[in-house]
Amino acid sequence: MQNILEDFPAWKDNVIREEENTRYLKAGRDFINEPEITRLIRESADAGRSRVREIIAKALEIKTLELAEAAVLMNVKDPELWEEIFSAAAQIKKKVYDNRVVTFAPLYCSSLCVNNCAYCGFRSENGVIQRRRLELEEVRRETEVLAGKLGHKRLVVVFGEHPSSGADYICQVMQQVYAVEVKTKNGTGAIRRVNVNAAPMNIPDYRKIKEAGLGTFQIFQETYHLETYNRVHPYHTIKGNYLWRLYSLHRAMEAGIDDVAIGALFGLYDWRFEVMGMLAHARDLEGFFGIGPHTVSFPRLEPAANTPFVKKGEYLVGDEDFKKLVAVLRLAIPYAGMIVTCRENPAVMREVIPMCTQRDAASRVGIGAYSERTEEQEEKIQQFLLGDNRSLDEVICDLAAMGYITSFCTAGYRCGRTGDNIMTMLKSGKEGCFCKLNAVLTFQEWLDDFASENTRKIGEKLIVRELAEIEKRMPKDFSPEIFKSFKEYHRRIKGGERDLCF
Ligand code: SAM
Ligand code: SF4
Repeated sequence: MQNILEDFPAWKDNVIREEENTRYLKAGRDFINEPEITRLIRESADAGRSRVREIIAKALEIKTLELAEAAVLMNVKDPELWEEIFSAAAQIKKKVYDNRVVTFAPLYCSSLCVNNCAYCGFRSENGVIQRRRLELEEVRRETEVLAGKLGHKRLVVVFGEHPSSGADYICQVMQQVYAVEVKTKNGTGAIRRVNVNAAPMNIPDYRKIKEAGLGTFQIFQETYHLETYNRVHPYHTIKGNYLWRLYSLHRAMEAGIDDVAIGALFGLYDWRFEVMGMLAHARDLEGFFGIGPHTVSFPRLEPAANTPFVKKGEYLVGDEDFKKLVAVLRLAIPYAGMIVTCRENPAVMREVIPMCTQRDAASRVGIGAYSERTEEQEEKIQQFLLGDNRSLDEVICDLAAMGYITSFCTAGYRCGRTGDNIMTMLKSGKEGCFCKLNAVLTFQEWLDDFASENTRKIGEKLIVRELAEIEKRMPKDFSPEIFKSFKEYHRRIKGGERDLCF
């Protein structure tokens, strides 16, 4: 494994295209102005309460914050002001996305990797990992479990970086996932949206995977701090090229992919710096393409097999700071979806879910881990260890008890509500209206086809509340005709029909 680059020198040389790497620099500089970020963080310590409240008010109008404004929020000391920030973050989530939480699952397809990221279980020098790449037949089996047994509708397919898992393989995986249809109690289980988390690509490869039906392309910068980046990603590896990664999503947009997802791996460097980096990233995308990231992720470092690095970091983020960084991101990039993952334990999940729009559930982060899972191989096949191992049914029940409806809706993407379109709708609150109706309809389908008795009871109560609320919001948010069709769709779904949505 370690010598793979010796076997594939031509492949490696073809991955990074320097001309694609530099075209978005401004006056030769990238968008991370490190001295400026550091200065802003240092000098925003003493903003008064009224300044903080002004910034909160701006975010509540769904306006992207300036870096200086985010720095002020992160420097707040007063616990009461923090409560105001948390409350504003929850209000923004409600205003833009209502009380919906979208669930998805990761599908790990290959742990072969040429890189040697210090924190990752799949790093090339980690000899204890049993590595492999799923055959398409295995992708089918994994998808059957996810769509047929659990009732997922969205996946993020995940890959190490390796010549055997490039764009062609990713396209084949996506096509295989979309092709799976499994009979369920009342209809057909199928994955309707496939997002991708893979290594940065060049523009022709991005075009290929867009053609194959890509949902969102997700790449985490890991750390925006150059020195730290270089320390944890050895320079002779592909991932060692900071700029190739920093502009990976600019290239994706240039290739016509309008839903891109940013993230940082919290715990590598100061969390405040990473939040500023993510905001600078969102603003640079907005500047070039008129549209920012579709979603924002904030994974925290988790333990991984034979990976001592993750335990000794001086920048590991505690739960309190984690909640703060989620809130500041919510305010700073208020239109973006916010994804919290099963890296977090259920208690932390409950703290941050009011500010988030998506979470994964019943996740496995090992190759073949849904259809072939055996306990003793778990550590050796997975990328890192998870904090929330509950079933999808338990997660949905917990969310419903908190008043959150789990949405399995993917309609927005099927009828062109993507990219720039969706951003405008989200900012105006219009997307939220359609989505609310579809959330109820898809939630009802899932309850009828997959839920345990207890979850069904709690879910039905929530649906009754939702129906009453939708009726009350007529005619401001929903016309009487739409409401009438909605009630009709709901009645038909309860009668066993499927796939009725707006
Ligand atoms: N190999 C591709 C890459 O590095 O971009 C994509 C897949 S990688 C499996 C997905 C993400 O997992 C990485 O971007 C990183 O942020 C995260 N990750 C890696 N090691 C982790 C760990 N020990 N704890 C939490 N997240 C980790
Ligand atoms: Fe490979 Fe991605 Fe893990 Fe780095 S984070 S070792 S690139 S799988």
